[in-house]
Amino acid sequence: MSLTVCETFYSLMGESTAAGLAAFFIRLAGCNLRCRYCDTTYAYEGGMGRSIADLVGQGRTFPVRLALVTGGEPLLQADTPALLVQLADAGFTVFLETNGSLPIRDLDPRVRRIVDLKCPGSGMSAHNYWPNLKWLAPGDEVKFVISDRPDFDWAVKIIKERDLTSRVPVLISPVFGVVTPRDAAAWILASGLPLRLNLQLHKYIWGPEVRGV
Ligand code: SF4
Repeated sequence: MSLTVCETFYSLMGESTAAGLAAFFIRLAGCNLRCRYCDTTYAYEGGMGRSIADLVGQGRTFPVRLALVTGGEPLLQADTPALLVQLADAGFTVFLETNGSLPIRDLDPRVRRIVDLKCPGSGMSAHNYWPNLKWLAPGDEVKFVISDRPDFDWAVKIIKERDLTSRVPVLISPVFGVVTPRDAAAWILASGLPLRLNLQLHKYIWGPEVRGV
């Protein structure tokens, strides 16, 4: 079994409730969406074929047992579920970041899913696979990337309708360089909801254009 891999690296988690923790990153190639704010366009095409055993073995060379499988959209590849299983079998806490357009239902229950809900500002909100919200489990997280105030208002509407904050951590991620952290913080505070401001730490640490960090 093999996957088409854009890049692998060892760095700090930039997002999610695990932000700031060291982790082994596997960025898979290919994406079925084209978000207006996409910062990983280099993952759309190309990539190198790597076996699952090779990837798990590389992960073992690092001094932590935390792994993030991301993209692109990792669930496009048929062998991604097996990769997640084998990482978990190898003792990793496994996070999967998915764009929310494909079903998460049949993944190994040990996998912690970070599920995007695409806001209107992404241009991709028609691709949200809504049944995923039924299958959220403890350990999962939902992320809204916010391009503007209307996106935030849309997110709040969905969060309330679906009672998301009572089920999983809900991340509000302002688009870097477009919505200031201060504005996003003010909106969260005014909402009165238990939302988590999700800044992309890696961009503040290493700069917005640096890959592989
Ligand atoms: S889902 Fe992610 S990788 Fe795909 S276009 Fe959107 S931001 Fe880029």
